[in-house]
Amino acid sequence: MIPTSLDWCQEQDRNDPLAPMKDRFDLPEGVIYMDGNSLGVLPKGVDARIADVVKKEWGQDLIKSWNTADWINLPARVGRKIAPLVGAKPNEVVMADSTSINLFKVAAAACRMNKGRTKIITEPGNFPTDLYMLQGLSDFLGPDVALQVVERDQIIDAIDDDTAVVVLTHVHYVTADMFDMKAVTEAAHAKGALMVWDLSHSTGAVPVDLNAAGADFAVGCGYKYLNGGPGAPAFLYVAERHQAAVKQPLTGWFGHKTPFEFLDDYEPAGDIRRMLVGTTSVMAASALDEAMNAFEGVDMMVVRKKSQALTDLFIALCREKLKDHGVGLATSENPGKRGSHVSLKCENGYAVMQALIERGVIGDFRAPDFMRFGFTPLYLGFEDVYRAVEIMADIFETGFWKEARFNEKGAVT
Ligand SMILES: *Cc1c(COP(=O)(O)O)cnc(C)c1O
Repeated sequence: MIPTSLDWCQEQDRNDPLAPMKDRFDLPEGVIYMDGNSLGVLPKGVDARIADVVKKEWGQDLIKSWNTADWINLPARVGRKIAPLVGAKPNEVVMADSTSINLFKVAAAACRMNKGRTKIITEPGNFPTDLYMLQGLSDFLGPDVALQVVERDQIIDAIDDDTAVVVLTHVHYVTADMFDMKAVTEAAHAKGALMVWDLSHSTGAVPVDLNAAGADFAVGCGYKYLNGGPGAPAFLYVAERHQAAVKQPLTGWFGHKTPFEFLDDYEPAGDIRRMLVGTTSVMAASALDEAMNAFEGVDMMVVRKKSQALTDLFIALCREKLKDHGVGLATSENPGKRGSHVSLKCENGYAVMQALIERGVIGDFRAPDFMRFGFTPLYLGFEDVYRAVEIMADIFETGFWKEARFNEKGAVT
């Protein structure tokens, strides 16, 4: 049994080695933020950095800043900061584009490397953009390459000699179910298929070791657990062994070997920069670059341990305090099999979440009936979790969620 008393939670906070990390962030007063898996909070220093980029680098130094502020190397510089969080070498990760676009580039590159094979495998219920981009890719590649959508417990059996690439999200965006990255990658390789991992709900939340898993490609998101700000650039990973041969279809000038020679013919850069497309959004990239400093000196194993303790506590508290309110657990009870968020299935989940947000507990809602709560060990504490469930219990007990305003849907849930 996991202790759930307020005293115990406060004691955990006092003994928490990550407690000082909260100081690295600008959190609004009176808010318990449990949506860092969707939009991370503002790290301290980002606002000053952006002001400097605008006023000095852009305002004063103008175009010289491509060299003097090293704007040109932002994709590689930020990539090097992300690499240790995903178990990659510094030259295996670049910041670029959005997760959707990166997924298209690496999946297309994998299909090209495995030309002649006819299948792309993914799972139903994967994050929609992953499914959509793969549908677009297979449509673009024509009748020779088809997308096969396979239930997760049958994926390993479905991988065969016709499979070009397997594309999976490591931590599921609703259930938080986590794949065994090494086992699935090995199963793909055993049949000669390539493996793409989407790390959007993993990076900065759970330890990832792409090199140890032997992964070929990966993509991930900059605005979730990496706190890069709304619409932050994403990143991608290409294993060093593939970098000389890999070719992606979006052959823009930032992927060229010598972009400033302005040659007519495309020739890819000799390293991971060949995965780049066009000009970097310098302000957005600078925000992510600065935000990454919040992870300096952070041991992901310590983050994982706290994340598991926080999610264990949340599940135990929900079981204790919400048992009469028709709330089901949509996430694995096994802390080794889930990432760093927990989803609750609840018929009136949308309205309950709106009521929670009004009371200062911010999570989100995912259709059709999931309330989702993110656990970000760098800035969320044990007492925060206790208070959040206490407030949720009160919302159920008083029927507060039934008020009409909580049932009006916004464009973004
Ligand atoms: C958040 C998320 C994305 C986001 O894609 P964008 O192109 O940045 O909008 C993609 N895939 C997964 C699995 C995600 O969780």
